[in-house]
Amino acid sequence: MRSIAFIILHCSATRCDQSYSFEACKRDHLKRGFTDIGYHWYIECDGTVHEGRKEELVGAHCKERNKHSIGVCYEGGLNENGQFADTRTEAQKDSLLDLLIQLHQRYPEAVITGHNEFNPHKACPCFDAEEYRAIFSI
Ligand SMILES: [Zn+2]
Repeated sequence: MRSIAFIILHCSATRCDQSYSFEACKRDHLKRGFTDIGYHWYIECDGTVHEGRKEELVGAHCKERNKHSIGVCYEGGLNENGQFADTRTEAQKDSLLDLLIQLHQRYPEAVITGHNEFNPHKACPCFDAEEYRAIFSI
């Protein structure tokens, strides 16, 4: 089993008024030549949680950080005008918290981080991951 140092949070960078399902994301990643969707978990607007790449496999979601991380993505991240925004629905927030509780149990040492903390050029995930670090005191 690989060691997990980080749980990295992402948005799909798609407009909140347009659908970008798990299947659509996976299809796009396969088109880019990935062997599978790059994320380990994907949360759609209605709160549905999809398992993507198996956790024991290295993902493709954060340059230089994939080897020791789990990638979690929510559908959205752009407002109706196409600007970066925290578009998480209440259902997504509930599902994300449930998922992070499970991940924190499996990987108690892993620090929850936003993609933008590793790459300041990115807005992703469009909210401050400190919100979750505070909950888990990590
Ligand atoms: Zn990202």
